[in-house]
Amino acid sequence: MVRLTRRNFLKAGIAVGAATLGVSAYKYAPGILSARNRDERPNVLWITMDTTRYDRLGFNGYTRDTTPNLDKYAEQGVVFHKNYSQAPVTIPSIPSFLTSKYPKNLSLATFFDQMPTNVLTAAQIFRSLGYNTSTATSVSFLNRDFLGKGFDYFSSPMLGSKDRDDFKNPLAKLHALLNIRNGEETNYALIDTAKNSDPDKPNFYWVHYFDAHFPYTAPEGFKFKFAKNKSFENGKKHIYNLRSITKLINDEEANFLSDQYDGQIFYVDYHIGKLLKTLEAAGKFDLNKDLLVFNADHGDLLGEHGYYASHHSAYEEITHVPFMITGAGLSRGKNLETLTANLDILPTILHIIGGNSGVNIPKFRFDGRSLVDVINGNQTKARDFVLTDLANFEGCAVRDDKFVPEGNVILTVCLF
Ligand SMILES: [Zn+2]
Repeated sequence: MVRLTRRNFLKAGIAVGAATLGVSAYKYAPGILSARNRDERPNVLWITMDTTRYDRLGFNGYTRDTTPNLDKYAEQGVVFHKNYSQAPVTIPSIPSFLTSKYPKNLSLATFFDQMPTNVLTAAQIFRSLGYNTSTATSVSFLNRDFLGKGFDYFSSPMLGSKDRDDFKNPLAKLHALLNIRNGEETNYALIDTAKNSDPDKPNFYWVHYFDAHFPYTAPEGFKFKFAKNKSFENGKKHIYNLRSITKLINDEEANFLSDQYDGQIFYVDYHIGKLLKTLEAAGKFDLNKDLLVFNADHGDLLGEHGYYASHHSAYEEITHVPFMITGAGLSRGKNLETLTANLDILPTILHIIGGNSGVNIPKFRFDGRSLVDVINGNQTKARDFVLTDLANFEGCAVRDDKFVPEGNVILTVCLF
């Protein structure tokens, strides 16, 4: 591990700042979009899976059939294979990509911090472009007070909230107690929040699923999708009480947890499929015209580096996250190996919308950059490196496009 001095980190920061200045007003994106009415703004469905590793998804090459629905959508669009998150934990990773700002520029480190008032959110931007803006999140700390700026409709789980009463099964009640929703409940909330939206406006949806997060316990019907030894669930409760050192569990137990993690991904994929079908049936989304975006806020350790069910460092398994964008006439079946960041997603969506609809998208001061030029082949490289802030800003990790993950090396860590 190489440590950067503060002077060197500042140099890196200057390079990032200079690159950021390159983000300009989005005009048309010729060459990547099919001919269609340029006055038409596509609906945007942005799906974020919490705690989802790049390497456990079918369309990223995983041998297990964890994501049949996402695989199908990926075939119709563009997959980025070297995409990295800017934080290893939910807060600040999610606020970072929903604003295209580095976590440090948001001053967010814990659940107790508030979003800065002077930073535009994706929802505010879409609202300013004439969109209905709707979201459903799956954990109570991603609530309206924290993340609600710009959303017309916001639904997050809250103990005793009305939508909880509609779920009778015991697991749903437990999740209510923990202020967590499962995928089925999240879908219900999104569809509920979206159904009264203005039919004359396009829709921006952001949906957040939490199921891949520990303790990896799927509802009935999905419980043991991949796990072979079902006895662990009831007989080895201690594996649910540990989130740290792998040596405290044996290989069989570790494999069980890994299998259950994959099962959770399968469960969410199933509900993503259902969500798209429901929105399509309601005339609220059409993959032929509209834009589907999929990413994750961070991954998880499943025994690597001595830990499992943990994500507080910048290891590859934690920061290498999936990113796929599809629909709206984008190239089909494209797989890109260029280095990208979650920060780049919002500028890319806006660039595509500008190209698709002719809407004049104003210039925003994003930390990320549009990937449209690499999608359409006009550029081979999106960025020279990506930065990931460590939890609580104890430093940051830097990856360049030559980085090959090996052993316990994080790459370069810089100290603030
Ligand atoms: Zn998270």
